[in-house]
Amino acid sequence: MATRRQFLVGAGGAAAGLAVGATTGALLVGDDDRARAEAAAARQQFMEAADAGERVARLGTRRVIWNTTVTEPIAAITFDDGPTPEYTPRILDALATAGVTATFNVMGWNGVHHRDVLREVVAAGHEIGNHTWDHRDLTSLDVHQTREELVRCKEEVEAVIGRPFTSFRPPRGELTGYALRVAAELGYDTYIWSVTRGPGNATSVTEIGDYLGRIVIAGDVLGLHDGIGQGTFDPTASFARALADRRELEVRALPAALAQIAGRGITLMSANALLSRSEPPPVGGAGPTPP
Ligand SMILES: [Zn+2]
Repeated sequence: MATRRQFLVGAGGAAAGLAVGATTGALLVGDDDRARAEAAAARQQFMEAADAGERVARLGTRRVIWNTTVTEPIAAITFDDGPTPEYTPRILDALATAGVTATFNVMGWNGVHHRDVLREVVAAGHEIGNHTWDHRDLTSLDVHQTREELVRCKEEVEAVIGRPFTSFRPPRGELTGYALRVAAELGYDTYIWSVTRGPGNATSVTEIGDYLGRIVIAGDVLGLHDGIGQGTFDPTASFARALADRRELEVRALPAALAQIAGRGITLMSANALLSRSEPPPVGGAGPTPP
């Protein structure tokens, strides 16, 4: 049965209409003082969120894109988590050879620590998206942390490259209502992806390249990587080493994949370029059939 405290916090969250899941966990803590302090902090956050909801917020219309409807054979290619000296330069070479312009969704910390690599990405004409400051799971963050993740990435990376981000990709595709609101405030459409490198247990460069070469169809948003996300901060951990192994295969498979996709008559481009050449989405209706 819900306690009065749980009810108050729950009601605050519902009123705000926002995802702030982590804060409610404080109610289960046995230590009464600590639980009371955490609940008070949670309420404060909910109130601030509710206040924000009551302010005039003409944020316009922003889109969440998995893939698009097109009348020509085009698709988007995107790279997340970089830039890194390990992967990004080789990806730039492969893209240059194939004559493809992509979207690089920059993890802010990497952008600032590898600014020369970031500048190479920009100089090659690729599009830059906001992938948060340090790749934390947005569903575990409160509203202040969420805002910090997007705004710090924007401010610090834009100071390096001298131009604004135009889109957002949430880490691991995990979104909250509040993250969408901050993205709207910053003027971003939000891109997820429709296809990625395929089965995680594939260990053959040929197999991965062939999968990518076959799976992409017109309108797809292909999600690949030029970094290892949270593994950046603990590179010797087993999960980070496993991610690095996966990325290495992905990068080595890229040239063959690009050639195969081009051979099938599909032109790859940045995410915003794809969207600008896509049909407007139908209003209402049942939507596409899930894969
Ligand atoms: Zn990521």
